Amino acid sequence: MAKQIKQNLKIAGWQKVSLIDYPERVASVIFLAGCNMRCHYCHNHKILDSRQNQLSFSSVLRVIKQRLAWVDAVVVSGGEPTLYPNLIEILRYLKDLGLFVKLDTNGTRPSVVREVIELGLVDYVALDVKATATKYPLVTGMAIDSVLQTAEYLKRQNRISYQFRTTLSPYLNHADLLEMGKMIVCGAKTWQIQQCRCENAYSSDDVRKIASQLERYAKHIVVKGI
Ligand code: SF4
Repeated sequence: MAKQIKQNLKIAGWQKVSLIDYPERVASVIFLAGCNMRCHYCHNHKILDSRQNQLSFSSVLRVIKQRLAWVDAVVVSGGEPTLYPNLIEILRYLKDLGLFVKLDTNGTRPSVVREVIELGLVDYVALDVKATATKYPLVTGMAIDSVLQTAEYLKRQNRISYQFRTTLSPYLNHADLLEMGKMIVCGAKTWQIQQCRCENAYSSDDVRKIASQLERYAKHIVVKGI
């Protein structure tokens, strides 16, 4: 089965062990090639080109299996994993190994996110919430509508844990972040705020101050990257 998956899966990068990508778990992170967004701050440009395919699923799996004693989770990240028609197969394979599985998504395929949760194939979802409705096209090149559907579904369901994540693009001002809190995030469990690695990024102090102003919108505010 791993060989069949290999033919349809483009793994552009792999971090064998990470202590920060899955809350409270030791995880391997698989980066799938290809994304339908074009965020101005994206550091994964190399893996957006879906023609790249440097690693085989079977070789990644082989090493993960060897490390099952101390790696208890896998993060399926991108690019955008929900673009893969065989995502369900991939997740099922990982779950069958007894691993906790986290999906990182930009939220543009709400039906896929819903399906993999309802099938019990993921244990955690991280959804990127990138801008206000007005500024989504500016920051990502896409409209917000499908992302809103994913956000609403995650907040409604109670099967798995999830977090919303926002990179503090310099295109977003304080009023934008408050609007995102009010219109998109409000009532969420966890909102992770991360510093942008780009020109004119918010300073670390500003990130901390902004995070403190957003506390009213989510039960937990997590600050990353400062
Ligand atoms: S959604 Fe993620 S991978 Fe896609 S362009 Fe934006 S930052 Fe890059």
